[in-house]
Amino acid sequence: MSPEIEELYQEVILDHSRRPRNFGDLPDAAVRVHGDNPACGDEIHLSVKFDGGGSLHDIKFTGHGCAISQASASLMTMKLKGKSRAEVMEMLDAFHNLVTDATNEAPKTLGDLRVMKGVRNFPQRVKCAMLAWRAVEQALEQGAGEATVSTEPT
Ligand code: ZN
Repeated sequence: MSPEIEELYQEVILDHSRRPRNFGDLPDAAVRVHGDNPACGDEIHLSVKFDGGGSLHDIKFTGHGCAISQASASLMTMKLKGKSRAEVMEMLDAFHNLVTDATNEAPKTLGDLRVMKGVRNFPQRVKCAMLAWRAVEQALEQGAGEATVSTEPT
């Protein structure tokens, strides 16, 4: 295996894809988003609950697809629980830079999400890594009800 492939599929990523955290559905979710990445066949169903101040009170997901998409969703839910909308959007930007920008220094604020850094060497996998984030972005925008989001333009 090349070092790049090894970095892409490091232990933490494999572990999260095999045993995803926050896996399931929130029966009393405020908003549910179905995310679709047809380029790879990845799917994410995200359910989100807000607290009185609009922060992410709880977040869960189900889905299937490649290890990158599922591990990214698992790591994301762990990181975003309890965060305010502004913090989520900041984190989204920081994560997008991490997986696309070769000069990005992987800021400490990203915590465990930094293991996804290897994606930057595989541009075709960026959509896999970003799928759950696109879904949470849509959830914040929508605020309530159900929505779908796709990585491909419709
Ligand atoms: Zn994928």
